This record gives sequence, C-alpha cells and structure tokens, in this order.
Amino acid sequence: MMLRKRGPLIGDNTDFKCFKWVVRQKFTSRQSFKNAIAKYEILQGRNITITSSNNHRKQNVTVKCVSGCKFYLYGGWDSRRVVYVVKLVNGEHSCSRNMKKNRKMKSRWVADQFLEVFKVRPHWPAKEIMATIKKAFGVLVNKDFAYRVKYHAHRMFHGSMLEHYTKHGRYIEALKHINPQSLVELVTDPTRVDNANVFQRLHVCFEGLKHGWLEGCRKVICIDACFLKTFLGGQLLSAIRKDHNDQTYPISWAVVESENNESWEWFLQNLQIFLNLGDGNDLVIISNEHQVTILNGVAKVFPKAEHRHCARHIYAHWHKSFKGKDLKLLFWKAKAYSKAYFKDSLVEIEKILPAAVDGFKRYNPVCFSRAYMSFTTKVDVIVNNMAETFNGYIITARTKHIIHMLEDIRTQVMQLYVKKGDVSKWKGDYGPRVIARLEKEKEKAKNCEAIPSTNTIF
Ligand SMILES: [Zn+2]
Repeated sequence: MMLRKRGPLIGDNTDFKCFKWVVRQKFTSRQSFKNAIAKYEILQGRNITITSSNNHRKQNVTVKCVSGCKFYLYGGWDSRRVVYVVKLVNGEHSCSRNMKKNRKMKSRWVADQFLEVFKVRPHWPAKEIMATIKKAFGVLVNKDFAYRVKYHAHRMFHGSMLEHYTKHGRYIEALKHINPQSLVELVTDPTRVDNANVFQRLHVCFEGLKHGWLEGCRKVICIDACFLKTFLGGQLLSAIRKDHNDQTYPISWAVVESENNESWEWFLQNLQIFLNLGDGNDLVIISNEHQVTILNGVAKVFPKAEHRHCARHIYAHWHKSFKGKDLKLLFWKAKAYSKAYFKDSLVEIEKILPAAVDGFKRYNPVCFSRAYMSFTTKVDVIVNNMAETFNGYIITARTKHIIHMLEDIRTQVMQLYVKKGDVSKWKGDYGPRVIARLEKEKEKAKNCEAIPSTNTIF
C-alpha cells in the first residue's frame, strides 16, 4: 500500500483503552509497534499472536487474533520517512473480549504500571490490587497474581530479596561496631545439609533501649507477632512497654522464620539474658491468649512471671458467641479491681444468658481480670494494644527487604524517642500525660470521704 500522507505517531502517551488501528499509524521503531500491540492486547482483553517476525528492526510484522477472529494487522518499515508504519488493517474483532486470561499481562508489566502507587502504599493489599487491575484493564486476576505484582514492584524499588539476605552479615557487623553492647543475635538454619549459612532468625535489642527500660519502666513487657509482608514470609516478634509518660516504648524485635515454640523460646531467652530477667519473678508479660506458642514459651522461660492475657482479644472471641450491648458492658465490668465486683458481674451476666458465664470462665479470668492481679508491678494493664500499635507503626517497614526493614524500624524507633521530647524539661517528677491522668482522678475523687475503720486503716 502506498503512503500518501503523514499519519499520527503512536507512543507511550497513547490511550489504548479505546484505541482503533488504522493504516498509516506511525511508530518510532519496530519494537515500539510491538509494545503498542502488547498494550492494546492487555487493555482491550484480546489474545493476539505475532505470526511472522524476526529480529531485524526493519522486518515486517503480521499480527492475528485467536482462531476464527477476523482481526488482522500488518506493519513494516518505511525507509523514506524512517518510521515503522501500519500498512494493512482489519481492526474489527469477531471474537469476544477475554476477561479471565490475558497472555500478555505479566505481573512485572502490571507492577511497572502502578509503581507510583506502590511508592506511596508499599503495603497495598492484594484485594485492592485485584480490584484495581480489573478496573484498569478489565481482567480478573487471582490473589497469587496480585502478590506477584507486589513482589515485582518491591523488587524494582529495592532489588532482589535474596541479594539482601546475603548482605545481612555486613549489616550485623556494622551494628555491632557502632553499638558493641547491643544484642544482635543471628541464627542460621541448622537443617541445611550443605552447611550453607542460610538466614533463620535475627534478634535486635539496642543497649540504649535496654537501659531505658531497666531504669525508667515498670517490669511489664507486652509481646506479640506480626507477619512480614514480603514474598519470603517470616514474622516479626516484638517486646513493647509503656514508658514513664504512658507512651509506647519498643524494647526489642526479632525477625523469625515463623511463630513456633522454638522461635518464641529463643526470643524470650534472649530477653531473659539481655535484660537480666531471671525466672520472671516480679515480671508481668502480656500477650494474646490464643497464641499457644507464646503461652508455652513464657511458661518455660519465665515460670514465675505473671502472664496476663489481653482482655480485648478475649472479648473479641467471647463476643462472637455472646452478643448484645448489655453483655458487652458486663464483660468490661468484670475486669473490676475487686473480687466482689467481679462476682457481681458474673451474676448479672448469668441472669441474661447462663451459657455466657461458662464461656467467660473458659478464658480463665484470673489472667485478665484486675481483681486477681498481683500488686508487685503496680501496673493495671490488661490489654496488648501497645504491641499492636507498634506493629501498625512499622507496617510500611514490614513490606521491605530485611535490611531496609530493620533500618526503617531502627530509625522509626529513634524518631519516636525524639518526638517524646526532653525529659529534663518536665515540670515535676512525672510525665505530662501521667500528671493529666492524675489530675483527672483527683477531680473524680474530690467528693469522696476517707472514713477510718481503725486508727491506721481507712
Ligand atoms: Zn479477536
């Protein structure tokens, strides 16, 4: 076909969603023509085949759709205008749009299309990725595909995960060099028959955090685990506390292969040695009650510790079977400070639904009702939200490769302490949050009267 006039130049800025092929469309190269076919194929839900082509940049290309479809495209090099052009076209399809399978839509390509989104939201959930792909390309993809998209996006930002794991030795050396008194404990996989040093666990606790906890916090530790959001899986175990101003105080964290008896035991033993915790005498540990591996680990490493179970988690489980506003109020009333109030609450629950009391007792209230707690630590905390707050605080870091993640956590924790402000500027012996809470309690107590029962007891 003769070219009589100049046609439009097709490139990266072309919208292929409503694109129509016509004769004389121009491309800067044969590769640019093939890229355009790929985008057209993805965005219009077709499965196209390039039937004749070789690697020479000026060679003609013939494009067909699925068997029985009339779509046809023929492109070739125009040496006079030095462009690649469409020479023959039948742009109408007699096939139907394919929503479920698109051969050209590779996860790497999709990741490239959404790099800007991943930059802002590295933990973009798989469900949302699937919905966005459906909206953008009209293709239904499964969860595995969404995870592969995420993997490629992170790889584009941070390089290969395996390469990162080969660098952790130097990272640990650097940490130890700068902070020699800190705990940086690496464990390699003992099951490897080839004796290769394959990463299994890494525990970090900085010396400064240790001293802060020992000198400024009561002996309470909240422990929890959360998933790492990369392809290699793994979990992050953490130990958190509230500081003397009632704010989150991360003490220590570890990357482990998974939550199991060995990993929790190892984590707790490291804490035991590094923080001089002994057998857990006068120590309170708070965790979720349904994590059997934590219960086993605490019982083994800290047999004398008081192990409290998070009341909020217990309520969430109990509430699944026993719903209602009244039951909710009574559940939280049962966290009472005295055994009498605790028993009253159970009687009230029984009046509404007797089975709810049995359900309540199955969670072992001694572990989450304040009426049964020891006074030694002088802390009435019965929820594990500090650890969960920390998990949320580092959610973006958890999407990254190990060294970037550990560095992000380290710097985020550092920033957390900077934000807390200078303690020397406090107007008194207590933090401003504690003073505010104290004032609130004083206000509540102003109408109370202390009545003596003996000369010394009120
Ligand atoms: Zn077709």
